[in-house]
Amino acid sequence: MNPRRVSKPIQIGKVTIGGEAPIVVQSMTKTDTRDVMSTITQIKELEDCGCQLVRVAVPDAESAEAIQAIKRGVSLPIVADIHFDYRLALMALEAGADGLRLNPGNISQPKKVSTIAQAAKERGIPIRIGVNAGSLPKTVSKLTTAEQMVEAALQQINLLESLDFDLIKVSLKAFDVPTTIEAYQNIAQKIPYPLHIGITESGTPRRGVIRSAVGIGTLLCQGIGDTIRVSLTAHPREEVFAAYEILKSLNLRQRGPILVSCPSCSRAEVDIITLAEEMEEKLSKVDKPIRVAVMGCVVNGPGEAKDADIGIACGKGSAVLFKKGKKIGIIQEKDFITALMAEVDKF
Ligand code: SF4
Repeated sequence: MNPRRVSKPIQIGKVTIGGEAPIVVQSMTKTDTRDVMSTITQIKELEDCGCQLVRVAVPDAESAEAIQAIKRGVSLPIVADIHFDYRLALMALEAGADGLRLNPGNISQPKKVSTIAQAAKERGIPIRIGVNAGSLPKTVSKLTTAEQMVEAALQQINLLESLDFDLIKVSLKAFDVPTTIEAYQNIAQKIPYPLHIGITESGTPRRGVIRSAVGIGTLLCQGIGDTIRVSLTAHPREEVFAAYEILKSLNLRQRGPILVSCPSCSRAEVDIITLAEEMEEKLSKVDKPIRVAVMGCVVNGPGEAKDADIGIACGKGSAVLFKKGKKIGIIQEKDFITALMAEVDKF
């Protein structure tokens, strides 16, 4: 792991992004923003699973105005996602948005950007320059997509800096993972601002989680990234879950349990796949950071089970139960789940 890149922190509502702040997990609602109650319900669900910052789409004036009522019902900071119409950004600011996302591919005219920057500066509201490979501005000239993305961001950054606006965060997202990595590596050396990282349109969870883990994980290992969003074609709680799993796998954040389970093989003396799935379901309702191991036999079982906070190494019809490396009993197969969960509850 490389040391984390030093970035200039910004504040979005109560959340700090960049500097030495922990890497922030964010997501985006998938409700109709004009449907205030549904949007509030979804934001609360996201907050319950650890989301720290939520973006809402603002495709029209009614959506921009709805931000005011949404903010009254939630405690997470709200970022307004703006495309095409700069007036929606002004309306979202008026409605109390804690942050803006602008796409330089569809709002780049200096006069419009300047009007937004002035209104944001008066309120101390940061702007994310959210470049997307699928909607690059016509003003970019470089050869590769990664270079074009960087150029698009730098053009907008230069414009904002010329307006004495520096509450900036940047993202450069593409579906192609190597392109995304190259773009972030490039811009990370050129600007001091915090980076929002992610792989855009990465698909349904089965593939999208992997594409995101490879892209986001690679960048995080290089010390690049101050906030992450996993974009999935799924309920946004899946995005938050995946984001934490990425951060947990690199020991960058802790949240909830870690389940260690062996893949199973012909040596397994119990149905370890079903057992691990049942444990995962049970542990999904647990908040505490605890490592639980479910191992199929005596080959790696005792070692992994001992390393975990709670673990079992299974034999035929029974298992050795370990707690903090010490053997604390033998349990029968029918009691595996209840015995493990009893220890988790006590932990
Ligand atoms: S722990 Fe045992 S059952 Fe599980 S994969 Fe390893 S050898 Fe197979």
